[in-house]
Amino acid sequence: VVGGGIAGVCVAYECARRGARTLLLERHDMLHRRGSSHGESRIIRPTYAEEHYTAMMRKAYPLWESAQQEARTSVYTPTGGLDFGPAEGAGMRRVLAAAEANGVRAERMDAERVSRRFPGFSIPDHWTALWNADAGILNATKAVAMYAGLAERHGAALRDRSAVVGIDHAEGGMMRLAVQDNSRGASSGAGTSEGAGGGVAQSVVARRVVVAAGPWAGALLEDTLGLRLDLRPIATAVAYWRARDAQARHRFDAARFPVYICYGDDQTEADALPPGWDETGGSTGDSRASIDFQTLYGFPIHELPGLIKASLHLPEAHWERLGRDADDRTMAPDAAQARRVVGKWVSRHFEGIDTDEVALTEACTYTMTPDHDYVFDTAADGKVVVLSCCSGHGFKLAPLIGAATADLALEGGTERIAESTMQLFSADRLAL
Ligand SMILES: Cc1cc2nc3c(=O)[nH]c(=O)nc-3n(C[C@H](O)[C@H](O)[C@H](O)COP(=O)(O)OP(=O)(O)OC[C@H]3O[C@@H](n4cnc5c(N)ncnc54)[C@H](O)[C@@H]3O)c2cc1C
Repeated sequence: VVGGGIAGVCVAYECARRGARTLLLERHDMLHRRGSSHGESRIIRPTYAEEHYTAMMRKAYPLWESAQQEARTSVYTPTGGLDFGPAEGAGMRRVLAAAEANGVRAERMDAERVSRRFPGFSIPDHWTALWNADAGILNATKAVAMYAGLAERHGAALRDRSAVVGIDHAEGGMMRLAVQDNSRGASSGAGTSEGAGGGVAQSVVARRVVVAAGPWAGALLEDTLGLRLDLRPIATAVAYWRARDAQARHRFDAARFPVYICYGDDQTEADALPPGWDETGGSTGDSRASIDFQTLYGFPIHELPGLIKASLHLPEAHWERLGRDADDRTMAPDAAQARRVVGKWVSRHFEGIDTDEVALTEACTYTMTPDHDYVFDTAADGKVVVLSCCSGHGFKLAPLIGAATADLALEGGTERIAESTMQLFSADRLAL
């Protein structure tokens, strides 16, 4: 398994649990902060604007539950979740339809009901909201550590500071990996031999290889297997905002206030557009409106005292697209931009939150596909499983993808994910 983020550790756990000799190779230190899986909060929710993810979430929840039981630890904090946005907007219409089609237990709320239920928080009268009790917060780094620990308990070997710099066919139907020792700390570069620095490469042979290399996957797959996929590493950031007083700290505490997703907020998307940005097409030529509706997401006070977290998901104008090497980025997010766009949003919806200053920002990296769907497919005659649970929403589904990956790698197929969904995730799809 190449990569020790949430995807890689879930795969390693599932493979080892089923008795496969499993080796996970991570180029940086385990639990590092350069990729996508670090930090203390990711949203888990049963609702999605897309039916296929809504259906997959039904299968992901029990897997989170059983792993926590096995590890005797908790990485999930239930808070409930609120999806909201313009009632006539495509985002909320699709969330409502997908929830209904999948039998998600949820309660529709109008603006007045939202304000009564969550004092100090409001949405405009023409917006609608959907409340569900099952959404909550996953502690991200702790969850990676949990799955890594479980994988080891089942016999997997986890080697960090070990960069895979080559993947090739070997004798006897095996695959050979060239693995570079990064224990002396040389660890930046696209992941291939010319970029990774470090010591002399060693050889590892394996029957199956799973590439779960997150933002580095595009360069690695192209350089090693000649597979060109449009996997775009994007520098992104999260922002925290301080509750001004005891009342706000009480109201927005995780015991009372949910995680939330705001869909299709034109005002915020317009605020985020830099001068000259083409609202309909964007600089990449993607049609924003047709592929994603989520503008912003947020968390109650939970991980840090007195701080709520609210961050942009879209629009793309806000993204800083990285080059081939996802390590080549600044880790200092632009707080002024967060204040200008997200702060404005927070002040429109929350009472008692200080938006004059961003309390804290933290860098993170997304891997985006042009259609915002995952990549989950096989390559090299079925000997390599390529997986990128990406586009800013892969954490909550990693246990399911991990189990399905083990199915593909060990059994040659999976029934956990609908065939029609597998087609959407195909590496051959036109969007890539
Ligand atoms: C700010 C932010 C907020 C998010 N919010 C949510 C949310 O609320 N809910 C949700 O479900 N998802 C969310 N996501 C998305 C989710 O966090 C990611 O989809 C998920 O963490 C991706 O995990 P990964 O294992 O694929 O990638 P990563 O965590 O990046 O792991 C890939 C690993 O591969 C290693 N690697 C790369 N190349 C090599 C190599 N050549 N050899 C060895 N190792 C290698 C890397 O060092 C890295 O550790 C968010 C993401 C971000 C950035």
